[in-house]
Amino acid sequence: RAKARGRGRAELFDESLRAQLAAHSEMETALTAGLAAGELEVHYQPVVGLAAGRLEGYEALVRWNRPGVGMVPPNDFIPVAESSKLICDLDRWVLHEATRQIAAWRAEDPVAAELTVAVNVSGRHLSDPRVVQDVTDALAASGLPAELLIVEVTETVLVSEPAAFGHLVALRELGVAVAIDDFGTGYTSIGQLAGMPVDTLKIDRSFISSADSGHAELVALMIRAAHTFGLSVVAEGVEEEAQLAWLQGQACDFAQGYLLSRPLPAEAAAAAWRAALLPAS
Ligand code: C2E
Ligand code: MG
Ligand code: MG
Ligand code: MG
Repeated sequence: RAKARGRGRAELFDESLRAQLAAHSEMETALTAGLAAGELEVHYQPVVGLAAGRLEGYEALVRWNRPGVGMVPPNDFIPVAESSKLICDLDRWVLHEATRQIAAWRAEDPVAAELTVAVNVSGRHLSDPRVVQDVTDALAASGLPAELLIVEVTETVLVSEPAAFGHLVALRELGVAVAIDDFGTGYTSIGQLAGMPVDTLKIDRSFISSADSGHAELVALMIRAAHTFGLSVVAEGVEEEAQLAWLQGQACDFAQGYLLSRPLPAEAAAAAWRAALLPAS
């Protein structure tokens, strides 16, 4: 009987594994087709400079407007894309779309000329030698000055992907800035980052939301250490006035979060910069 039960369990396990694999490959196929069919779109979340309280630029965040399903958030499909070369095609598409969009806004009015755009690049893409050419191509196609583009990578990529380091050096030689995303969730210390091709630290939102319950000293320390090493700091996931005021007091450079704005479709993001930067008429 025990044997029979054990076999039953193994079959159940096989079945759920089979179902998972099927779902994964179904999504990979649909995402590949969706990318080609124009189902992906980029939303833009404002990043605000805290010294002047001024709109600095946007982070580009991909969404999949999947027919019959609706807007799929990146956490549901980026991991699938990352299990194959598909992530490189996806990241490349976002790079082109986001740089094109920001360049179009700059062309519309001189007040938008200094807006930056941050694009997320997955570890797999960053390790691929093509990444430097992809960024070069996107800048050339859009006409966006390299200085306005920020590439966001996670800290684990820097320490675990040997090829990534050289590619980041090459990207910075183009004039592109590098930001470490979700900082604090890995095992990298700020001292380690000092020797790395990095310009900006984005403190993970888990530290910001818990800043009132004991993490405040840690965040304050991160900001001071980053500044000591010449890095600028973005606080992610700012949801409350009190957090914003506190970060301002700590001389944090930039903030991003639902308090300031959710990620917006391109048209709404354009309305946001017009409202923030154009003189009221
Ligand atoms: P991320 O790069 O850390 O982006 C920030 C995420 O936090 C976004 O989620 C954003 O909507 C969310 N967020 C911003 N402010 C707040 C806040 O105040 N509260 C809360 N609770 N959340 C906030 P989103 O858009 O769902 O993206 C999730 C992740 O997917 C991103 O995290 C990034 O790692 C990845 N991702 C998004 N677009 C791309 C892309 O084009 N390429 C790659 N490789 N990854 C991407
Ligand atoms: Mg990011
Ligand atoms: Mg982040
Ligand atoms: Mg993230």
